[in-house]
Amino acid sequence: MFETLSGRLSGVFDKLTRQGALTDEDISTALREVRVALLEADVSLPVARDFVKAVSEKARGQAVTKSITPGQQVVKIVHDALVDMLKGEGPAGELKIDSPPAPILMVGLQGSGKTTTTAKLAKRLKEREGKRILLASLDTRRPAAMEQLAILALQVGVDSLPIVAGQTAVDIARRAKQQAALGGYDVVMLDTAGRLHIDDELMDEVTAVRDVAKPRETLLVVDGLTGQDAVNVAEQFDGRVGISGVVLTRMDGDGRGGAALSMRAVTGKPIRFVGLGERMDALEEFHPERVAGRILGMGDIVALVEKAQETLEQEAAERMVKRFQKGQFNMNDLRSQLEQMQKMGGMQGMMSMLPGMGKMQKQMDDAGIDDRVLRRQVALIDSMTKKERRSPDLLQASRKKRIAAGAGLEVSDLNKLLKMHRQMADVMKKMGGMSKKSLLRGGLGAML
Ligand code: GDP
Repeated sequence: MFETLSGRLSGVFDKLTRQGALTDEDISTALREVRVALLEADVSLPVARDFVKAVSEKARGQAVTKSITPGQQVVKIVHDALVDMLKGEGPAGELKIDSPPAPILMVGLQGSGKTTTTAKLAKRLKEREGKRILLASLDTRRPAAMEQLAILALQVGVDSLPIVAGQTAVDIARRAKQQAALGGYDVVMLDTAGRLHIDDELMDEVTAVRDVAKPRETLLVVDGLTGQDAVNVAEQFDGRVGISGVVLTRMDGDGRGGAALSMRAVTGKPIRFVGLGERMDALEEFHPERVAGRILGMGDIVALVEKAQETLEQEAAERMVKRFQKGQFNMNDLRSQLEQMQKMGGMQGMMSMLPGMGKMQKQMDDAGIDDRVLRRQVALIDSMTKKERRSPDLLQASRKKRIAAGAGLEVSDLNKLLKMHRQMADVMKKMGGMSKKSLLRGGLGAML
């Protein structure tokens, strides 16, 4: 069903591609289409609305870049907004399983892939984190399900709790916890019973198990192919039992990932893993970028986005080089550089944009220049008159005192700034004689 979404978006972007620049009207037209497309793809109305709002806010502030088309630019903005919306806090695949034996409760409907996912996750935790795992099936109504878990446990090389007939789910949960504590296991995973549909009996049972097990993580397993239904299931489980994360299965199928978007938006709970097949190693940490690409349905979207990013950085670097080439570097130039550094995430961000700047970065680090210092330096420049900014040579003792006082700082702070300015101006002057190409290729590094 998500074919519609990708098809529609392609159509919108094709139209944009043929136009010259990104206008407000372009953005509105594109976003109207995006909204309709999301709705058709079974994303709920409030989710689609929020998404479009976030995208439109981002899009309006964006500078048009030369070397990518407006269409590609909108793709990037939509892609980034999708990633933002899909992303949880911290790494998706990190589970809270520090105090052993840490109980993990696996919940979900029958057929969602719960038992398979339980075994896949056990394998992952065993192999990647060296955890000792105990698996227990609580599906007392379906002996076959209990057998299935025991077989899968053998297959992935972890232990499973011996099956005892006649016990309730709560009994088994209690026994599993005891066994896990006695046996020195790091993690005990409880595979709860599923039903075809959500019913009160199921919810009551899972809730009772939860109260006994006191899980560190409660992972809901949902079939990624079921779209809006999956979202309803997530909402219900989260409301009744409380979940800490979601595993989306069958993401190897035709689904376009729209469920992921709604689920994340509706429950606010992070998607932790995705199932990508029947094999025991077909479980991956959730990557918002991949799912965003999938929702957009454009194969090389990630490459495209990366290219767009590079283009933006290249353009910023070129602008900087132009300034250097003019051979001018007064306090106004320094101020705009400092501001840009702040905007771009501090020194690190800016330095990393110019090849060969690593050495200068180190010098600045050594000199204790960080973002707080950046702000003080800007304050000092702001405290200068227009004339002083254009010709810093004017600065004698009395002017220095006034400027430092105006910024609430010491004359020694101002002297440091002036020294840095002189050093940078020197470098700029030398660079002014170099070709743009060699500057961008790393000539700067050679000069330092
Ligand atoms: P449960 O009833 O929720 O425990 O579901 P199962 O774990 O028994 O899985 C039902 C079927 O779905 C099995 O045939 C699994 O192999 C299959 N399955 C589970 N996860 C995935 C997945 O990520 N992709 C695919 N293609 N099949 C899956």
